[in-house]
Amino acid sequence: MNIEFKNLTSIYHQNTPFEHLALNDITTTFKEGTYYGIIGHTGSGKSTMIQTLNGLLLPTFGEVSAGDILLKKKTKQRDVHQIKKHVGMVFQFPEHQLFEETVLKDVMFGPKNMGMDRETAEEKAKYYLHLLNIDASLFDTSPFDLSGGQMRKVAIAGILAMEPQVLILDEPTAGLDPKSHIETMSLFERIHRDMGITVILVTHDMNDVFEYTDEVKILSAGHLVKEGKTADLLTDETLLGKYSLEPPDIVKLVHDLWEKDIWFEQMPKNTEAF
Ligand code: ADP
Repeated sequence: MNIEFKNLTSIYHQNTPFEHLALNDITTTFKEGTYYGIIGHTGSGKSTMIQTLNGLLLPTFGEVSAGDILLKKKTKQRDVHQIKKHVGMVFQFPEHQLFEETVLKDVMFGPKNMGMDRETAEEKAKYYLHLLNIDASLFDTSPFDLSGGQMRKVAIAGILAMEPQVLILDEPTAGLDPKSHIETMSLFERIHRDMGITVILVTHDMNDVFEYTDEVKILSAGHLVKEGKTADLLTDETLLGKYSLEPPDIVKLVHDLWEKDIWFEQMPKNTEAF
């Protein structure tokens, strides 16, 4: 399932003194089976974009389409519910959303809430807990008695158990030590590869962008300033030409410019394919 944004504009508190334009006339496609990175500085519109992708926010102008689902400003809750079924979201610190009495019940909650019968929900829950290396002996414990790393895995299992076609990851490694960081990112990579699932990763970590994503979308002040294949960032004429560098020096340069906030100043204000 592709998800398409067509002339999508998102304005917070429209027609009030607090009106704020967060996304400005964005037309773009998230293709089925692709691993995307969404990058941009704080306030550039990343959160607004991912919340719009799964129906948490509706467009102020323009539309989002996914298969036969169409989201517009006045879309009915029924369609919003439909997109939520297909687009799973791993929020930052997903473990904060655990709430059930036992690990198993927590993972079963999402699938049951989507209309899956109890037996199937339990089957899925066990499958994904197993995939995340949560031992069956922990299924009946309270999720709050687990370690931080295990809690995060349980929360992620709960999202995977709904078997979304698109998985959004919002800074999924925030606060993790380097070992858990690699484990978590490798897990998502495996899920992406084995299940053919679309992954949309929001991150500030350029290493992860280069390591895992196929394509990037770069946001700056609500504009989609650049999109294209991640690998092509490494041969970006703007950067190579300006600094007369060859890859792989460019990788370091992108990191440095990113850190210093310089790169975005060079970006054109309109969308441009690599
Ligand atoms: P990012 O995720 O890249 O940090 P956001 O999508 O959170 O960016 O925010 C985009 C812009 O919209 C920012 O200028 C932010 O201050 C503003 N914004 C975000 N949420 C709200 C809100 N609930 N009300 C008003 N403005 C908001």
